[in-house]
Amino acid sequence: MMENKNIILTGDRPTGPLHIGHYVGSLRKRVELQETGNYQQFVMIADLQALTDNYDNPKKIRENVMEVMLDYLAVGLDPNKTIFLLQSQIPALYQLPMFYSNLVTMARLGRNPTIKNEIKMRKFENNLPVGFMTYPISQAADITAFGAKYVPVGVDQLPMIEQTREIVSTFNRIYKTNILIEPEAILPDKEVCYRFIGTDGNTKMSKSLGNCIYLKDSSETIKKKIMGMYTDPNHLRVEDPGVTENNPVFIYLEAFATDEHFKKYLPEYKNLQELKEHYERGGLGDVKIKKFLNNVMQEILEPIRTRRDEFEKNKEYIFEILEKGTKFSIDYTNCILNKIKEAIGIDYFLNDDFKEEYVHHYKIKSK
Ligand code: ATP
Ligand code: MG
Repeated sequence: MMENKNIILTGDRPTGPLHIGHYVGSLRKRVELQETGNYQQFVMIADLQALTDNYDNPKKIRENVMEVMLDYLAVGLDPNKTIFLLQSQIPALYQLPMFYSNLVTMARLGRNPTIKNEIKMRKFENNLPVGFMTYPISQAADITAFGAKYVPVGVDQLPMIEQTREIVSTFNRIYKTNILIEPEAILPDKEVCYRFIGTDGNTKMSKSLGNCIYLKDSSETIKKKIMGMYTDPNHLRVEDPGVTENNPVFIYLEAFATDEHFKKYLPEYKNLQELKEHYERGGLGDVKIKKFLNNVMQEILEPIRTRRDEFEKNKEYIFEILEKGTKFSIDYTNCILNKIKEAIGIDYFLNDDFKEEYVHHYKIKSK
């Protein structure tokens, strides 16, 4: 199944159901890559990483593991092509961070902009758990344990990939090997999806911030969230000229609306460019564009929700997929782990090298 194929690894924290930011930032790309047939993709539920800032609430993580699995299957990740696994059950992922943490300085970790930001968001400044601070090292372990070459992610993950690349090159240099592969991020096609904005229009859509449209939201909930979205705060009357840049409704349309959607729901405009021009000239109301966005989002999310509901009737199947993928991943990563141990020289009982060295040495001494 795996030979001669580049490996892809990605994952999501089981801290809540997945949202449309995940969809445009990574999930859509994973499905696309899966369908090329050119890669072996592993998709990991990152429950260990979720523990680093939810250590006092493991119940929340446990409850969301299957939610995330359902979202995966709903968007079209296919268990016949993609391997799903649960991070906390893979022994190699506990061992590698121990080796890699020797190769990273505290100062380097502290410079990671994503971590800095997340520490602030979680108000961890004065009680920062070591586990949270070092999760980039654990992420390097995840990526390298699978020998992954590609990681489809949103832009917030670039500093993590960069950290992994540094660890890989340091490791290969110090232990004079080339077994670790430097991974590359695969970003979404459209720039508005790099860091998809929340419905509040302020920051990244994130489970932790409550500004999400979830893949599993009901049709009414989606409509309510869209009709309540921010637009241009100075666009008070329909005839006023409006600003489309940084306007969340236009950002969402950029990410989701196709020319076919225009034909179907808003035929007086050919495409987004024409709609934008009208809004900027004045004479186009917010309600009209929100209603259009709602039609587009309903069309995209309805089949995802239907598939999700179908899968939800078959919980045993989902459990089996996750268990099977995890068991496969345990063996698979152990093989790579053993090679890494060999490179470091702590492969004592994995082969006869150590025994021979020791016995040979002993023979010389006793002569
Ligand atoms: P949490 O708030 O618990 O950190 P999250 O919503 O940030 O959750 P993660 O599980 O941390 O989600 O992210 C999983 C993947 O989805 C990552 O590759 C991340 O880059 C991507 N992603 C998450 N949110 C967005 C977003 N708003 N825009 C683009 N990509 C995103
Ligand atoms: Mg996150």
